[in-house]
Amino acid sequence: MNTINTNYPLKSKNTFGFDIVAAHYAEAKTPGELIELLKHCANENLKLYILGGGSNVIFPGNFDGLVIHPSMDEISLVDETDEFATYRVGAGICWDSLVAFTVDKGLGGLENLSLIPGDVGACPIQNIGAYGVEAKDCIVSVEGVLRESMFPFELKNHECHFGYRNSIFKNELKGKVVITHVTFRLSKQPTLITHYGNLEEELTKYPEKSIKTVRQAVIAIRESKLPDPKEQGNAGSFFKNPIVSVDLVKELEERFDRVPFYPIDSQTVKLPAGWLIEQSGWKGKRVGNVGVHAKQALVLVNHGDGTGTEVIQLAKTIIDSVKQQFSVDLEMEVNVVE
Ligand SMILES: Cc1cc2nc3c(=O)[nH]c(=O)nc-3n(C[C@H](O)[C@H](O)[C@H](O)COP(=O)(O)OP(=O)(O)OC[C@H]3O[C@@H](n4cnc5c(N)ncnc54)[C@H](O)[C@@H]3O)c2cc1C
Repeated sequence: MNTINTNYPLKSKNTFGFDIVAAHYAEAKTPGELIELLKHCANENLKLYILGGGSNVIFPGNFDGLVIHPSMDEISLVDETDEFATYRVGAGICWDSLVAFTVDKGLGGLENLSLIPGDVGACPIQNIGAYGVEAKDCIVSVEGVLRESMFPFELKNHECHFGYRNSIFKNELKGKVVITHVTFRLSKQPTLITHYGNLEEELTKYPEKSIKTVRQAVIAIRESKLPDPKEQGNAGSFFKNPIVSVDLVKELEERFDRVPFYPIDSQTVKLPAGWLIEQSGWKGKRVGNVGVHAKQALVLVNHGDGTGTEVIQLAKTIIDSVKQQFSVDLEMEVNVVE
């Protein structure tokens, strides 16, 4: 069986940089190794947590159980036509290495998702998205192992019920599966998506528009806007952008000069959670060892010696404050480890 480490430090395994330990920690390089670990967990009645790159989790404190890191690391070409190339990718591959690999091969689809932290295995969980593209746009299927029965499963794209930062893995199958592989279909004749945010403007600095320069532009924008977890612990956007009624926006427009929003349909719009937090006076605020980032109100940060409990408490206070001022319910995007 794989090595199971005890009292394993997780400081470098969560991007908040919380100085915590897992009672037990092991990596699973194959589905077979994973099943061995799941059996061990069941036999020893251990609590279990599946950890990818740790960029979207918050541990309130030490973890008194077994943390398993799926580390399947193969990338295999499984189908190719004149138009598309389809790759089956191991859960343990770093997401941005996959994006770099596909862009280097001239394959389009993932370039707008450049530099999102984390591993491939987690990308379907919240259907990662950025600059007008979501992982679901390229995912063909998701494979893994059911935690309880230890049977393999494979879900096709439409069975994953993907939505905005959402999927079946955050609902019916929450905590019930371990993803081992994701299959992606990438285009040999890519259509560039450049309308979102200031991507189009950034691209004017490059000699041509291609998947390569879109990747470079996305990286440049992200590096200039988002705090690097290596310098200041964080988990990216802490809250989801709430979807609200058009009527609420009309009310807000009577109170504020400019209300930013993205239309969803004739009845609903998406409001930037960062704007709501900023208008509630939280931007740059520090509470003990944690706080709200000075430039990005959507990002909660660890100032050094913070704990998960402090961040969760701060998040709850912000949720109450936004609710009071805007009657909008903010929902956390980050996964709290229970
Ligand atoms: C600076 C920064 C910027 C970010 N920007 C974006 C962005 O633009 N768009 C976006 O969508 N997200 C963004 N994120 C969030 C994060 O990068 C993604 O959610 C990413 O997919 C998390 O991957 P991970 O491997 O780190 O997952 P983890 O944080 O390790 O885990 C996240 C959740 O998935 C579960 N999980 C992980 N791997 C598996 C597996 N193999 N099988 C079953 N369950 C699993 C975990 O149990 C947990 O519930 C950002 C984060 C940071 C720190």
